[in-house]
Amino acid sequence: MTLREGQRSPARSHERAVAKLQALVRIPTVSDRDPGLVDTAAFDLFLEELARQFPVLHERLELTRVDTHGLLFRWPGASSARPVVLMAHLDVVPVEGTWQHPAFSGEVVDGVIWGRGTLDDKGSLVAICEAVESLLERDVVPAQDVWLSFGCNEEVSGSSAVLAVEELRRRGVEPWFVLDEGGAIASEAFPGVKAPIGVIGLTEKGVTSVELRVEGRGGHASTPSRMGPTARLARAIVRLDRSPMAPRTPSPTVELFRRMAPHGPLPLRPVFANAARLKPLLTRALLAAGPEPGAMTRTTFAVTTLSGSPALNVIAATAKAGVNIRIMVGDTVNDVLDHVRSVVADDQVHIDVVERNEPSPVSPMDDAFELLEATIGEVFPDAVPSPYVMMAATDSRFFTEICERVYRFAPFRMTKAQREAIHSFDEHLGVEAFLDGVRWYELLIERLPR
Ligand SMILES: [Zn+2]
Repeated sequence: MTLREGQRSPARSHERAVAKLQALVRIPTVSDRDPGLVDTAAFDLFLEELARQFPVLHERLELTRVDTHGLLFRWPGASSARPVVLMAHLDVVPVEGTWQHPAFSGEVVDGVIWGRGTLDDKGSLVAICEAVESLLERDVVPAQDVWLSFGCNEEVSGSSAVLAVEELRRRGVEPWFVLDEGGAIASEAFPGVKAPIGVIGLTEKGVTSVELRVEGRGGHASTPSRMGPTARLARAIVRLDRSPMAPRTPSPTVELFRRMAPHGPLPLRPVFANAARLKPLLTRALLAAGPEPGAMTRTTFAVTTLSGSPALNVIAATAKAGVNIRIMVGDTVNDVLDHVRSVVADDQVHIDVVERNEPSPVSPMDDAFELLEATIGEVFPDAVPSPYVMMAATDSRFFTEICERVYRFAPFRMTKAQREAIHSFDEHLGVEAFLDGVRWYELLIERLPR
């Protein structure tokens, strides 16, 4: 078979796609809460390289720059009645730990692409762009408008996604659905479950932080009094640690267990299958299974920062503890603050709210969800698509303001070790897994209904 101009052999186009991811992983787009510490030249370079790697996309799609380096593309479809938004972010977290292959090398070794951002989230970004580029080369017109929203400061809760939402609102765009990072084709998702689970986040926990603060007189360490600021703060922390909020199993988790049932360990299958009826039992089992499954059942409190006096021989005039709170769907920021107040039960402990985010609304499992399920079934026939509650925060939470259906899913096979490498060391993505991801985005766009 001879290939027409614009067509490439599959092997060539696969190599091309991998080379693009390598090139973009090599550019260290590390974000920082302090804008002064951001290497803006790296971000400039990233956008130039992206334009070089995806010339057709850049030529044919309308581009709006958002924030410093955020991108919002519109690909006009046959209809703009039910637009969709595909999201990713181009920034990464700093490198830590000792890596088998340098974090910004983008090396391909034994069928694996190594580097910071391969999973979070340049893998998705490049797979989306590659899917669009190939469809454009084949002159495919999507049935609906497709928007691509690429943030530049997701890892530091920056304003890029907020501004993209503002821009869409200004233009009167009400997305049919929004798809962002979050889930995956997860193997070893649950002990004893053999099949990979294609987890699609329907909601995410709300990240809220408070500071517990106790003031006192301070003074010389040779003449301490009882129940000074540090002791009072310590008592408050212990009280909070001893009294967690009530656990429960929300509906996406119930559905996750129901779907895992046929693949679960034999003795647990009836429990999984009847998760809806056995919710209290399931909740207790998750809590007993350790901190990770436990976090699926309730709002969590982690005391992260602590401060007192700066000197060994000085009594603290102020003692402070930062508490990072992940709010479970069903609880609200106000519920959480009431809980903290009542269990600390000490009006000398001030509670300062540092950031407040409610959990995201639960997206419905209707036609858009079914489209995701069907395309997962085509590309990953061994996987079980399922809803779940995401534990971490994504930029997509801002899109819940303009869209009812916000889903968190990256179409990549990930082992437990790979999931643990996110924000840690040795982040890597299989070449085949990446190419499946490209194919999945292509299929998703091609399957958009008229
Ligand atoms: Zn991310």
